[in-house]
Parts: sequence; structure tokens; C-alpha cells
Amino acid sequence: MEPDAAPAERSPATNVLLGLVLGAAAGLACNMALAPPLGAAPSDAYARVVWLADRVMQPIGQLFLRLLFMVVVPMVFASLVLGVTSVGDLRRIGRIGARTLLWFVVSTAVAAVLGLTLVNTFTPGSGLDPAISARLQEQFASAAEERLAAGRAAGGFSLDMLVNVVPRNVVRAASDDREALGVIVFALLFGVACAQLGRARVGVLLDCLQAIYDVCVKLLGYAMRLAPVGVFALVFATAAKLGLPLLQALGGYLLVALGGLLLHLFVVLGAAAWWFVGIRPLRFFARCRGLLVTAFSTSSSNATLPTTIRTATDEFGVPAHIAGFVLPLGATMNMNGTALFEGIVVLFLAQVAGIELQLSTQVLVMALSVLTAIGAAGVPGGALPLIAVVLAQVGVPPGMLALILGVDRIVDMTRTLPNVLSDLVCALWVSKREGVALRL
Ligand code: ASP
Repeated sequence: MEPDAAPAERSPATNVLLGLVLGAAAGLACNMALAPPLGAAPSDAYARVVWLADRVMQPIGQLFLRLLFMVVVPMVFASLVLGVTSVGDLRRIGRIGARTLLWFVVSTAVAAVLGLTLVNTFTPGSGLDPAISARLQEQFASAAEERLAAGRAAGGFSLDMLVNVVPRNVVRAASDDREALGVIVFALLFGVACAQLGRARVGVLLDCLQAIYDVCVKLLGYAMRLAPVGVFALVFATAAKLGLPLLQALGGYLLVALGGLLLHLFVVLGAAAWWFVGIRPLRFFARCRGLLVTAFSTSSSNATLPTTIRTATDEFGVPAHIAGFVLPLGATMNMNGTALFEGIVVLFLAQVAGIELQLSTQVLVMALSVLTAIGAAGVPGGALPLIAVVLAQVGVPPGMLALILGVDRIVDMTRTLPNVLSDLVCALWVSKREGVALRL
């Protein structure tokens, strides 16, 4: 007699997706049944849901996120050094690096222009009820002040921004999300030096870094086993506290922001994958679903990086040296969704304030959106301190950021999708141009 067939196992990506859907459904159900209208006092039952979200789900979700964050610094360092060293000759590194940067700048600029076009066309800010606007600003004033202080600490736009890209102390840079670029620069230079010294001199070190990288991948495997539960908890906590009345009040803004982000994700990046890499959009997105679910639920390019690397290498056959080079850079520097969102927020708030931004100022907004998207940390809400800086530059009161903070989590989750996917398309494109036979 034939042994019983093993029960068909669901794929890990499907389990994570299930966590996302169930978390969203449960959270939204609690929210719709119990949440009070805007400004009203919450009932006891809703207070218990908020307690569950804050005291149970958030810690579980944070645990999952921290397990992912935990591997980012060693993984980025090891993969960049190994990536640069195994590309070997400096001319090839230059070619891959130049293509990568070209992709980052062009795709981010396209996203920023798309955002500005949408917000100019639909003008969501001019229809906002002034009473609601005043109440939101009051309610979120202190939260906004925190972001503004972080923006002030970042120091605005100056030559220092460029100087600071080279870290004075690499250990300190590694401990601060806002200094991720410093770690990248150190790792790149370290890799170049290793490549020049050659395997005979630094072979042991490289083997060691390879082992560190392998251990990180293993650790990531442990973390991802928790993913369905972690994702459920994160999404439940967000959905249960979403504040549906708030969503309604800011409906116009949300429609433009979320619509723009999804348009960029599915249409612009889908077309780019088809055109530049030769993979049909539907097939491409189906194979990236695990990656997209991770990006959406963690709301962080950094936390998603290990999954992005794994998707690129295991799913599409991107060679380790290209994935190890392009993707850590992308997680830190390439943020299409963030740039698109910044353009929309700045103009939306200007519209609410009744400030007309001339075309030349809008071009400045676009340029600043691209620059700040490069500088933003790939963590939840990483863009917010920098937006405060852009607002101040173009004469919109930065305190108005308070208006959108209450709904930012959902926008943040959505903008992380194109942030991450654009990195993947870049890695595929660069591989293709290097003559790699990808699994498409
Ligand atoms: N959460 C985004 C990311 O990690 C950054 C942001 O736009 O706030 O990609």
C-alpha cells in the first residue's frame, strides 16, 4: 500500500499573506464595531481593544521587527564588502555602480513627478474642512513637534550633508538609522581596499565575512518563521487603531497618496520590469508577493532587505555579488514611494494652508523630494523628519505635518512597497545588462 501522501504545505509567503489578511480583517472589524467618532470619548470596549493593540500586539510585532533589524548591519556590511570584492575589477564595480545610481535617481525622480502631477490635478487640500484641519493640528501637535525636532537635528540642507556621508566613527554610524549611508560608504571603501589587496592577503577575512553573511541568513530564517504571527500582530495593531473617521476626513489626501503609490508600483515599476528585464508584470508581482507582504507589514526597507536579497537570488537568480551590492544600497538610498509621497504631502499641506506654490517652487520640491528620499532612513516613518525640512524650505509651516500624522502608518506601509520593489527591478536590470541569465 502506498504511504499516505504528506499533507500539502502552504508556502511561507502564503502563510505571511494569511497573517496580513487575518490581522487586517480582525483589526478592522474591532475598529468598525467599537471606535468612537472623531473627537468623541472611546467606550470601555474600544479602550480594551486599544490595550490589546498596544500592550499585546505591538510588542509581538516589535519583537518580529527587531529580529529583522538585528541582522541588518552585519548583513549589509558583509554583503557589500563581499559584493564589491567579488566583482573584483574596479572598472566593473564602476559600471555596476553607475547603472545602479542612474536607476535610483531616474526612478525616484519619475515617482516624484508622478506625485506632483497627481496632487496638482486632484488638489485634495483645497476641499478639506478648516474645522477638521484645525482639530487635527491640535490633536497631533506634539507628535509633529517630535518629528520637527528630529528634522532640526538632521540640520537642514547644507554642505554638511555631503560631508556627513563619510562617518567620523563607523561604530556610531552603525548604531543610528539616520547614518546608514555612513555604514554603506565605509563598507564600499572597505570592499574596494579588499579587492585591491587580493585574496592572498585578505582571503581569511573574506571567508569570515562570508560566514557572517551565512549566519545572518540563518538568523533571518528563524525570524521569518515568526513572520505570519508578527505580521498579524503588526497589521492588527494598525488596523484596530486606524481611526476610520480620520481616514474619511482625509479621504481626498489618502486617495491621491495611496492611488499614486499603487500606480507607481503596479504600472510604472511593472512596465519597467517588463521593458527593461523582460518579465511580464502579472508573473513578476505574483513571484514577489512574499516580498511585498513583508515590506507592507514591516513598513521598513531595512527590515525587508534580507527578504529582498533572498527573493532576488533564490527566486530570480540574481548573482550574489550583484544582489549584495545593489540591494543594500537600494534599501538605504532608493525610495521611489517616499519621494512620491513627499511631493504629495508638501503640496497637499500648501493647498490646505492656501499657499500657492509656483512652478519653480514645485521643481524645487521635486529636487528636494529626490534628495531627502535618498537621505531618509529605511525604517517606519523614516521620511517624516526630512519632510519637515522640505516644508520649511518652501515656506509651508512645518507644524502642519500634524495634519497627516494620524493616517501616516497606512501610507508608510504602502510607500515602502515601491521603495523595495524598485530596488529589486534595479538588481534584475543590472544583472541583465551584465549578461546574467536570470530565471524569469
Ligand atoms: N518606511 C519607509 C521605508 O522604510 C521610509 C519612509 O518613507 O518613511 O522605506
